[in-house]
Amino acid sequence: MKPSDTPKTYRVKSFGCQMNVYDGERMAELLDAKGIKPAAEGEDADLVVLNTCHIREKATEKVYSDIGRIEKAGREAGKKPMIAVAGCVAQAEGEEIMARAPAVGMVVGPQAYHRLGDMLDRAVKGERSTDTDMPEDAKFAALPKRRKVSPTAFLTVQEGCDKFCTYCVVPYTRGAEISRPYSDLVDEAAKLVDAGAREVTLLGQNVNAWSGEDDKGRLQGLDGLIRELAKLPDLKRIRYTTSHPNDMTEGLIAAHGEVDKLMPYLHLPVQSGSDRVLKAMNRSHTAESYLKVLDRVRAARPDIALSGDFIVGFPGETDAEFEETLSLIDAVGYAAAFSFKYSPRPGTPAATMDGQIAPEVMDERLQRLQAHLNRDQLAFNEASVGKTCDVLIERKGRKPGQWLGKSPWLQSVFFDSDLQIGDMVRAELVHAGPSSLQGRLLETVSA
Ligand code: SF4
Repeated sequence: MKPSDTPKTYRVKSFGCQMNVYDGERMAELLDAKGIKPAAEGEDADLVVLNTCHIREKATEKVYSDIGRIEKAGREAGKKPMIAVAGCVAQAEGEEIMARAPAVGMVVGPQAYHRLGDMLDRAVKGERSTDTDMPEDAKFAALPKRRKVSPTAFLTVQEGCDKFCTYCVVPYTRGAEISRPYSDLVDEAAKLVDAGAREVTLLGQNVNAWSGEDDKGRLQGLDGLIRELAKLPDLKRIRYTTSHPNDMTEGLIAAHGEVDKLMPYLHLPVQSGSDRVLKAMNRSHTAESYLKVLDRVRAARPDIALSGDFIVGFPGETDAEFEETLSLIDAVGYAAAFSFKYSPRPGTPAATMDGQIAPEVMDERLQRLQAHLNRDQLAFNEASVGKTCDVLIERKGRKPGQWLGKSPWLQSVFFDSDLQIGDMVRAELVHAGPSSLQGRLLETVSA
């Protein structure tokens, strides 16, 4: 790679989960701190950071086609943009990317992106580099101060996963579970609130496995951290995702009934309703134990909105086992959910299991499953009509003069009133649709 000028503009493109979005924001802050400016909308950036996701099928091929697109746009603009590949594909396929894509100057994993600045300095001198190291906790301490944030902000509190579900790459791409120190998190949350956040979502691949010593040396679980953050006066709402059923402690369930700022929304993946499939997935819980957790959560907070994750077509899944998944969905009545067809991930045990399901069977099952989920999401929204609640305005709606915010149950609520991003408004929910509601403004609680 030839030496080149230091880039003046950058663009970070993040794919996949909220943790990648958070990492993308931190990499952007890192480049800001180096005096490089975010490229304007539609402008070809001098440096493009592809912050990749490894979860979906053909994830790796998608990275190569994105690289090709950036190179082509550069040629058409008479530029040679610098390209960095970050995220989970970088972690899993770093060396191969360096071999297959000479245009890529930097490959950096999710645990090492705090070194992106140094890698960039080397790239400017013409030196390509890869860093997929997994240092214990160096990253966060090395990242620059948080900049102005939107009213809703993400805060990564935990990374990695020790569960090793047989279909999942996360334990291999993100490493073992690490809980960030309690004091760092309280400090970063306070900085986010000072920078404008009114709602903070605590993130982790297994967020409810977080634990840490508080400032009095007492071991706290996620509920202890939530109770401490709730003391921040200008922080109005707390959420957390993504959780594992086996880490829903008594304390965390109780917090849903006792901490007003903890929003009545719980995303708790289950994947299947069949105990044989759950065992083959190494989920280490049963359908019954999962339902019992939800019963305890509902007892603590009866109006809670429940959300789940589902995989259809896991190797060996029979029609009867799929029906068990539909029965579990009917028993829960989810307010929202994410559902996917099983896709084999290289290096995961399930990818080489017998009984891989035919694509057309997966399609048919996914359709039936989503019909049940959409029915229940609409029912949850319809049951919300007539309720009064606070809504945090996040952005403009699609129509002129329309604004969009989220209810405490994480429903999208539209308003045709003159509002601002960051307004907390009291509203009556007046009309329900499959994925959103119409709100009638009663008053602005805080601007
Ligand atoms: S708990 Fe979640 S992140 Fe961890 S291995 Fe299972 S699916 Fe992956």
